[in-house]
Amino acid sequence: MTKAPRTLTAILIAAALAAGAAAQTKPPATREMVLLCWQEFGELVPARIATVLVPFGSLEPHGVIPNGTDSLAPEAMARDIAARVDALIAPTLNYGMTEAMKAFPGAVSIPSDAYAPFAESVLDNLAANGFKNIIVLNGHGGNTAALNGAATKVANARRVRVLVINWWTLADDITKAVFKQNGGHAGNNETAYVQAFLPEFIHPERYKPEMATPNPAPSGAYYAVPVQSTILLYEKGQGYPTFDAGQAKEYFRKVNDRVAELILDTVKKWDLAGVYK
Ligand SMILES: [Zn+2]
Repeated sequence: MTKAPRTLTAILIAAALAAGAAAQTKPPATREMVLLCWQEFGELVPARIATVLVPFGSLEPHGVIPNGTDSLAPEAMARDIAARVDALIAPTLNYGMTEAMKAFPGAVSIPSDAYAPFAESVLDNLAANGFKNIIVLNGHGGNTAALNGAATKVANARRVRVLVINWWTLADDITKAVFKQNGGHAGNNETAYVQAFLPEFIHPERYKPEMATPNPAPSGAYYAVPVQSTILLYEKGQGYPTFDAGQAKEYFRKVNDRVAELILDTVKKWDLAGVYK
């Protein structure tokens, strides 16, 4: 063999390897499961993508921001971080359990005996479809116990890894850093987060500070159904919405960075431990 063809062969092999690598690392046409056809999905999962983000929300009153805040927030979060954590995005479950707020206009509450098995089935089906890391982006505190229960069952039955994230709690220190005080349900934190991507649906003109009530203190001191306010401050005197566009952008970015960091770190630790690989 002469020198020239050997060089040519080497070039061709290198080109073929590069093309193969490019095809492997090429991002999917979309990361949203609802937009993929079944053939595309089959090509991606599990061979190319092992992680799915699943937003779980609620339809309930939130001060002067959208009733769908608990769904809209984790959905926007999923879109913002999906590429960073190399995940697909499952459709949002827009309904949740909100018995103490169902008296307010436009609220819908699913009873726990229907919600818990439904949520479990969603996670179970995602595992059956080949995802190894199922990341629940929860937007609503009333769902947390049911989601933790579903996560535990599905993880051990299907031998997959499930992470349930309550973003407003994970972001506790970010709330205190950005607003210089604690947050609240439909307070500074949730209002800012939604304002960052849906400013036209935030209504400061409807807001009055008396629309806010601090959570019972000490915790468990009393229980009201319906709740007397839809803005519920974690701490008395703190957490009122600020409606500040700059804070909104900063908060959205910092919260999403924190959530992405937790996901990447958790998957790394699961891999290192070799559990349900
Ligand atoms: Zn909320």
